[in-house]
Amino acid sequence: MYDVIIIGGGPAGLTAGLYSSRARMNVLMLEMLAPGGQVLNTDWVENYPGFPEGISGFELVDRMKTQSEKFGLRIENEEALRVKITDDKKIVETNKGTLETKTIILACGATWKKLGLEGEAQLAGKGVSYCATCDGPFYRDQDVAVIGGGDTAVEEAIFLTRFANKIYLVHRRDQLRATKLLQERAMSQEKIEFIWNTIPLKILGQDGVEGIELQNVKTGKIARKAIHGVFIFIGTLPNTGLVKGKVDLDDEGFVITDENTRTSVPGVFAAGDIRSKSWRQISTAVGEGATASFWAEKYIEEGHQS
Ligand code: NAP
Repeated sequence: MYDVIIIGGGPAGLTAGLYSSRARMNVLMLEMLAPGGQVLNTDWVENYPGFPEGISGFELVDRMKTQSEKFGLRIENEEALRVKITDDKKIVETNKGTLETKTIILACGATWKKLGLEGEAQLAGKGVSYCATCDGPFYRDQDVAVIGGGDTAVEEAIFLTRFANKIYLVHRRDQLRATKLLQERAMSQEKIEFIWNTIPLKILGQDGVEGIELQNVKTGKIARKAIHGVFIFIGTLPNTGLVKGKVDLDDEGFVITDENTRTSVPGVFAAGDIRSKSWRQISTAVGEGATASFWAEKYIEEGHQS
């Protein structure tokens, strides 16, 4: 039986893995894709302490993985399908088998929200994208739209200025949600044109994106813009399907925990973007991963099995 099974290998999971393996617990990380989480799609990280020049998202999580493996963290490329919590143990069923553990750390993160517009699903991968780092280079000298006004939308719009001819940043209000520094940077970019108080209605095109239909929410006026790419960054949805109905979730589906990352079920902890909270950063995810590991160890030391 494992002491800890960590589900998800982003910064929260990797940090929980580092602390748990260094504490000599019998720990396993399950990650269905490559460890790293959403940070893998982040071109450049400049607000993670210790890297004054900044560091690529890929390199940062690769270093985290190397560091946790140095202390013996075992990472298995498996998908957790079901979690069962009985009186004396916790069971994680994966696509490869059944695992028993004393504690679980949920670090499954979140995935990008969809707009649900006509054309969005049909043109996904054909001009509709949720990752500028992955797809930005395809839009060299072309016009694109970015939807959203948070840190992600603004950061990715700035990244797209390296390739695209023009970036229309479409936001439903007349003020960005993004931090001031990112706002200043975006506003100083000639290639970014802000389209305020506007929502997208339809993504146009047959085999590829040819345009977007927009509506001004103040005037009701509908207009079309010819573009070749639409990047959608309107926030995230938690990957909590695995524990729905088993641990308490908030109205948006994020896992509710106390300040020590303990969920409503003893021995089950949650860290990183999956947690119900208002501030999602790599640095906060890392802190929560360490906290979850500490409390999982304490839970086992105190003699709990369930
Ligand atoms: P977010 O902060 O939730 O922002 C989502 C944006 O999309 C908001 O501007 C929102 O508009 C807009 N939006 C939401 N639903 C929409 C809809 N249906 N139609 C049109 N627009 C819609 O999401 P995020 O930018 O992905 O950031 C998530 C978290 O990660 C945040 O905590 C953020 O600080 C963090 N993050 C940090 C960094 C960094 O530190 N460098 C980088 C990326 C992300 P309203 O403003 O009107 O609600």
